[in-house]
Amino acid sequence: MSEITPGADMTHRKQGLFFKLMLRSSGVSLFEGGEIPNTDGIIRVVSAHSSAYLVPTNTEKTDYVLIDAGMDKNAANIKKELQIRALHDQAIKAIFITHGHPDHIGGLRQFPDVPIYVGAPDDGYVSGKAPSDGFVGKLTGSQPGIAVTDPDQLKTIADGQVVSIGEKSVEAFTIPGHTRGSVAYVIGSALFVGDAIAFRRNGTKMDSPKPFSHDIPQSRESVARLVRQFDDQGRAIEHVIPSHSDVGTFDALRDDVRQAPMS
Ligand SMILES: [Zn+2]
Repeated sequence: MSEITPGADMTHRKQGLFFKLMLRSSGVSLFEGGEIPNTDGIIRVVSAHSSAYLVPTNTEKTDYVLIDAGMDKNAANIKKELQIRALHDQAIKAIFITHGHPDHIGGLRQFPDVPIYVGAPDDGYVSGKAPSDGFVGKLTGSQPGIAVTDPDQLKTIADGQVVSIGEKSVEAFTIPGHTRGSVAYVIGSALFVGDAIAFRRNGTKMDSPKPFSHDIPQSRESVARLVRQFDDQGRAIEHVIPSHSDVGTFDALRDDVRQAPMS
C-alpha cells in the first residue's frame, strides 16, 4: 500500500530546480562536478543542486567511499564518474551519510551490498520509517521509495568513531543542528560537513537556509565545538567540503566562531 504524501508527486527535476533557486538566492559560492584540486582524488558528483563525494581509499584509486548519495534515485552521475574511470559500482566499499535529507540519500538503493553509516537520530529517514521533518518533509514527502531496501546495511555511527576502509580511516563527529543526526567526517585532511554550513562567494561561512534547518543555533554551536576540538588537537584541515557550496577553508570556520557570541 502506498501512502500519498504532500510532495510525493513532485518530480526529481522540479525539486532540484526549486532547491537550486533557493541556493542561488542565498549567495553561496557555486560549484561544479569533478575532481577537487589538491585533494588527491576526491570527486564531487553533482545531482541537481546537491553534491555527493567519491573519496579514494587505495593508492590505485580503484576503491572508494561515498559521502552521501545525492538526490537521484538512479545515482546516474555517481555511476557515470565510476564508469569514466573504468570502475563498477563495486568500487564503492562503504557509504557515509552526513544527514538523512532526501537530497543526500536518494541513490542509496543503487548500492545494496555495502555498509551505510548514519547518525542514529537520522536513521529513520534512511530506513524509510520516518519522513523528513519540518519544511523539507512537507516539500518532499516521506521517503519510503528512496530508503534502503536492506535494513542490515544500516549502521549507526557515534561521535569519535573511526572506521577503517582500505588504506583510509573515516572519523565521525556528530554535529546536531541542521538535522538531529547530522555527522561530519574527516578523511585525511578533508572535512565533510554536509549541510551544517556552506561558503559564500567571498569564502566566508554561512548557515544553511533556515527553512531547511532543524535548529540553526544548535548547528552553530556544534560547528564551534568542532573548531575548538580540532584546534586543541592541532589537527590540520585543508579542505572543508559542504554539500551545497564550493569548498572552503577551516580558517573561515574559525573566523566565524571568533566573531559569534558564545551561546
Ligand atoms: Zn539538508
